[in-house]
Amino acid sequence: MLNFALGPVMSSDLVLEIGSQQTPYFRTPEFSQVTLENEKLMKEMLYADEDSRVIFLTGSGTAGMESTVMNVFNEEDKVLIVNGGGFGQRFVDLCKLHNIDCEDIKVDFGSCLTSEMLYEYDGKDFTAFLVNICETSSGVHYDLDMISEFCKKNNLLLVVDAISSFLADPLNMTEQKIDVVITGSQKALACPPGIAIITLSKEALKRVENNSCKSMYFDFNDMLINGVRGQTPFTPAITVILQLNARLKQIKNDGGVDVEVQRVVDLANDFRTKIEEFPFEVRCKCLSNAVTTVHSKEILDVNLVEILKNEYDIWVSTARDDLSKDMIFRVGHMGDLTPEDNDTLINALKDIQKRGLF
Ligand SMILES: *Cc1c(COP(=O)(O)O)cnc(C)c1O
Repeated sequence: MLNFALGPVMSSDLVLEIGSQQTPYFRTPEFSQVTLENEKLMKEMLYADEDSRVIFLTGSGTAGMESTVMNVFNEEDKVLIVNGGGFGQRFVDLCKLHNIDCEDIKVDFGSCLTSEMLYEYDGKDFTAFLVNICETSSGVHYDLDMISEFCKKNNLLLVVDAISSFLADPLNMTEQKIDVVITGSQKALACPPGIAIITLSKEALKRVENNSCKSMYFDFNDMLINGVRGQTPFTPAITVILQLNARLKQIKNDGGVDVEVQRVVDLANDFRTKIEEFPFEVRCKCLSNAVTTVHSKEILDVNLVEILKNEYDIWVSTARDDLSKDMIFRVGHMGDLTPEDNDTLINALKDIQKRGLF
């Protein structure tokens, strides 16, 4: 299997090897050490402040989104949400579910966020800003510097869902004054699903501390207290935490987060150049490096996603064809992939083309 889907992604041999071991008991000093090291490495890679803290929550990425909404906000907040696709809409739904007052900036599917769109909300009574910095459903990456400036100017708490963007696009919690970053184990971290990672700035921590969360499992204060000694209130996805540890150390040993981001940038650019030889196009001007959304110049009557999977064992992600008829697929650049893997995909497409299927 060659997997270009948008999570779970291809894992390294080292991560796979850890996955094949027996699950160890976790209330041990050894396991606490691993968790504490993960926290340190995550803070380093997010350029987070010394005072920030990291939560490793067992659940998928959406557990990270929902628990953040529950723990960071309350009925005194008014949250502005960028809504340009499925994940933006999920934040809107979560805020509504938890009675958090919110408004959304509607961005057309596949379009960039412009400063005109953003500054329509300048000087209003919002308290916080929520954004899925890569809206994975379309591949759009919103301008984080622009959002950061807007939030600084309006004194808004900035919460970034970087679940697909972390390690693919640059992000700096300190310089960009980001208060919460949410990510997950199964995207560019290239581990199995199971752990959502929430990093909180000092300001976000203050909010959490003064908030009351009506949940036992999702209570950040409980997680933060346990986290001081490298533990979690309940049984975590232990193996995934061990795999994250190996992966984070590997990134550090290979030169750190900037080197890893550059590797993904190069891989994305390599694919975007190679796909040009087909009657396809990469239309979006603000794509994340995590994903390339490919459109066809004409509407195709073949399902390339199915053919690639069933006949070539190559997995790409489907397109939202309810929204865009000529969008054919999304190709991920996250995880253990190389330019040679891009060639394998390109050659399969050439073969399908030679067969006269498009
Ligand atoms: C993958 C993803 C999520 C989380 O999805 P889960 O299925 O809950 O892991 C959230 N936000 C974005 C932007 C994503 O790409």
